[in-house]
Amino acid sequence: MPERKDSDSRKLLRRLRETLAAPGGGQDRLDQITHHIADSMGTQVCSIYLFRDPETLELCATEGLKPESVHQTRLRLGEGLVGRVARTGRYMNTANAPAEPGFRYMPETGEEVYPSFLGLPIQRVGEKLGVLVVQSSEARQFSEDEVYGLEVVAMVLAEMAELGAFLGSQLDGMPLAHRFPVMLRGGTGQEGAAEGRVWLHEPRVVVTNPVGEDPQNEKVRLNESVAMLRTTVDSMLSAADMGAGDSAEVLETYRMFAHSRSWLRRMEEAIDLGLSAEAAVEKEQSQARARLESAADPYLRDRLHDLDDLSNRLLRILTGQGRDTGAEMPENPILVARNIGPAELLEYGRRLKGVVLEEGSVGSHAAIVARALAIPLVIHAERIISEALNGDPILVDGDTGIVHLRPEESVTKAFHDKMAMQAEAQQRYAGLRDLPATDKAGTTIQLYMNAGLMADLPSLDGSGAEGVGLFRTELQFLTRTRVPRRGDLAALYAHVLDSAHGKPVMFRTLDIGSDKVLPYMKPQDEPNPAMGWRAIRVGLDKRGVLRMQLQALIRAAVGRPLYVMFPFVTEMDEFEDAHRLLMEQLAREQRLGHDMPSDIRVGAMLETPSLAFAPQKFFEMCDFISVGGNDLKQFFFAADRENERVRRRYDTLNSSFIMLLDQIVRRCDQARVPVSFCGEDAGRPIEAVTFAALGFRRLSMRPASIGPVKHLIRRVDLGGLREVIDRGIAQGETNLRRSVTEWLARQ
Ligand code: PEP
Ligand code: MG
Repeated sequence: MPERKDSDSRKLLRRLRETLAAPGGGQDRLDQITHHIADSMGTQVCSIYLFRDPETLELCATEGLKPESVHQTRLRLGEGLVGRVARTGRYMNTANAPAEPGFRYMPETGEEVYPSFLGLPIQRVGEKLGVLVVQSSEARQFSEDEVYGLEVVAMVLAEMAELGAFLGSQLDGMPLAHRFPVMLRGGTGQEGAAEGRVWLHEPRVVVTNPVGEDPQNEKVRLNESVAMLRTTVDSMLSAADMGAGDSAEVLETYRMFAHSRSWLRRMEEAIDLGLSAEAAVEKEQSQARARLESAADPYLRDRLHDLDDLSNRLLRILTGQGRDTGAEMPENPILVARNIGPAELLEYGRRLKGVVLEEGSVGSHAAIVARALAIPLVIHAERIISEALNGDPILVDGDTGIVHLRPEESVTKAFHDKMAMQAEAQQRYAGLRDLPATDKAGTTIQLYMNAGLMADLPSLDGSGAEGVGLFRTELQFLTRTRVPRRGDLAALYAHVLDSAHGKPVMFRTLDIGSDKVLPYMKPQDEPNPAMGWRAIRVGLDKRGVLRMQLQALIRAAVGRPLYVMFPFVTEMDEFEDAHRLLMEQLAREQRLGHDMPSDIRVGAMLETPSLAFAPQKFFEMCDFISVGGNDLKQFFFAADRENERVRRRYDTLNSSFIMLLDQIVRRCDQARVPVSFCGEDAGRPIEAVTFAALGFRRLSMRPASIGPVKHLIRRVDLGGLREVIDRGIAQGETNLRRSVTEWLARQ
């Protein structure tokens, strides 16, 4: 077989472009394409397999195999050599196909006479569309040039499929990419269900010209765009004020990619073979994505993401398509993004019905914002970015972490039923809004809400919460590029207090560190940030910011009671120290002639097991104590709250944990200090009644949970539940959930 020349590839691509431009149905086009490819490659066979559904490939066109097998031969993903290429996303080149493991003989195609096999995935930026195969009767391996040339062709086919070139009468019922329903299983970031239409945070770039007419011209376009990319990356990085350490290194790698000669060279080679500049960028991007899928090393994955990100930027420069494509946001938008920062999410605000992230984590800033906005959030929804198109119908189930994209009618119906049931329940709970959470025996539990944004405050009235039991102050720090000014913070806190209309608001001082890294703070290279330099530890070591925050709180509260609580207190001395710092700020403000709050209450968050064993004096010093169950549980069970593998492994109703909580309540009672529970578990009805039975008289939760929790409290006798808990512990039950739920069911 003669050596392939660049001009052969270009000629072939020109013929493909003509096929694309000519009128005709999708089937005609596919038939012509297989003919052109076999002809150009000098092979007896060329076949195109496309996905019929995510698991099945169908032979859609062939030159050389029996024509009767078209639309008859089907393979499961992973089945035979074709299925293997589709599953791995990698090409396969063999001189002896029948000897390959997994080879499947398909008599209907008459293929046994062709030992040489070259199969390549037809994929577009990681999204698999099908497989392109050439076979020849001469037993030989295809050369590197041939493989590369055919990769370019497969790329063009992917772009053509994306442009709808293969839709047509003979392919009717053949669901191509972005048409079939997809179910993705992610993780729960925030509960709730939402139905709407996809709104991509970063809309896909549409490449309308996969084949380049003049390679010289395409290379000039590519080089100009890369030069622009480099300038923007350089200025972006110098604006980021890198300092030293890990993040500087990461940003440097990003810059290195942008300046990489080999990256540019590979794209130029693809142009030489006939691709347009855009398609050449996408080809590189697709290959990086395929590598990304199989890379286990998190560092390598991050770098491949960088490359992906750079490719997107480059494509936007080349096509002139910005983020704002002019598309109109659909009604009931569900935001789909790889990841998103808190500030960007806040900007979308309450317009969104839900959020689906390909990455993200439960404790991420985005999750905190989604929680504050009370919209369902699914995280770790793998492939959502490549699967979803703007405007696609989408169902998000934040309770189970399941996302249905372009759902079938039956799925939508079942989903509607679930939403209707939830709406009905909400209606029922709304009727309870003004009633107290009093159990059957007359014990009343105060239900407070957690907040972190001004936007949360309207829920205070709507939910019937009696106050804000936890105001997380991190967000105002996280969403800015520098430390907020004291005046701005004071104004915001005052606004929060105004909107609370006299109901108490417990401000928790800054809990940064751990996963909450301030963009303007030098990142600490800590192996275990959740157990590292965070919260009050930072506040006491670097007092400037804590002092400023306390001053802002004092100024906001003039003439009103001020509740301040310190997060992550681990031993008594820390609380004493922080308490003293607050008193000093009060004295200072008074000296400066500022009006004072009418009353000051100082509390501690009990989030580490050690504090449960603090000297009695600690409990007596506190004006109130709030159990931060999220952290307390993670440290008690040594199970990372952000690690999907372990975070649900240990149950809150595990009797050891319940005994710890019981002891905390007893110590607080002895010291006559009010104790509340403000972790996420307080918003789960079964957990909530259990805490109430242990003696917690105040629970603080997300506003949407107040109705369901109140509903259950009003239907039980907490004394009776207490007996069930004591009995379970006495009988040596490891987990009390079963006893508790069975008892509740009988009530
Ligand atoms: C907690 O740890 O339970 C808590 C309420 O604080 P955060 O979730 O902000 O760490
Ligand atoms: Mg905490």
